[in-house]
Amino acid sequence: LKSPYHGGHLEVIVGPMFSGKSEELIRRVTRAVIARQRVSVFKPALDDRYHDTAVASHAGRTVNAVAVRDAADIRAHLSGEGTLLHAQGDTLPDVVGIDEVQFLDAAIIPLALELADAGVRVILAGLDQDFRAEPFGFMPELLARAESVEKLTAICTVCGAPATRSQRLIGGQPARFDDPVVLVGAEESYEARCRVHHELRG
Ligand code: ADP
Repeated sequence: LKSPYHGGHLEVIVGPMFSGKSEELIRRVTRAVIARQRVSVFKPALDDRYHDTAVASHAGRTVNAVAVRDAADIRAHLSGEGTLLHAQGDTLPDVVGIDEVQFLDAAIIPLALELADAGVRVILAGLDQDFRAEPFGFMPELLARAESVEKLTAICTVCGAPATRSQRLIGGQPARFDDPVVLVGAEESYEARCRVHHELRG
């Protein structure tokens, strides 16, 4: 299964929550494994250490992954202490996948580019917009630098149209624009919504 890019490249999968980003990442990774390629999958850890875990889609499919705190953890995992990635040659995996990439740090950008330059197929999945429908952190730069961008839609929970946004609800009510991204103790949930039905409380 040869890459059309003749070597390393960067693929980005974006969309709102429930749009199937994890499913698509799992699909691509599974095919690479079937092709006997060496694959490493990472995702942000909720706690403070890195450990074995899995990427799971909302529909329940999973693939093994390593939970990491930041881009430096991924670099350490791939290269061992202080080693340059491009000097790794054959020891680098063929494919590196990362889910929920928006929750890592901006150092993921130079890392992804370095891996692609070193011949790795890098597949990154994450949110393109936050709950306010604003571009999510460093994601715009990843989109700009990728060879391939797939923008997925979910289904709007109100009208059934393609949903491009993540509706944040706090106690059942639309969140405010300036509500903190992490709200301790509040009962919050998210729904996929289209442009018309995405709401922010004034
Ligand atoms: P993401 O990684 O983008 O959050 P997942 O791959 O985890 O998405 O989950 C996608 C799955 O979520 C769909 O295949 C479907 O089974 C389920 N799902 C639940 N709610 C919705 C919705 N509103 N729109 C689309 N899919 C939904």
